Amino acid sequence: MKITQLDNDAYEVVSDSGKTYTVRYEGSGDGDPEYCAMWSCDCPASTYRSGLCKHAHAVIDAIDNDELHDEETEPQPAPALGF
Ligand SMILES: [Zn+2]
Repeated sequence: MKITQLDNDAYEVVSDSGKTYTVRYEGSGDGDPEYCAMWSCDCPASTYRSGLCKHAHAVIDAIDNDELHDEETEPQPAPALGF
């Protein structure tokens, strides 16, 4: 599962089967962020099952584990100076 943050409340999730879904945080900010109604996903599973699909779970886990990094904030190796 590969997760890319699109904007503040949207995440692109590429599943292990290669399909891409968009998970959105719909919460108002004053509730439990893991409350399932606050997350939406456009995968088939989330449309007929109540509760969080695995994509929303993956996004929540990534946020909890602080695994979402902007590329700009990744530590860069210092360039080797030739002198
Ligand atoms: Zn999903």
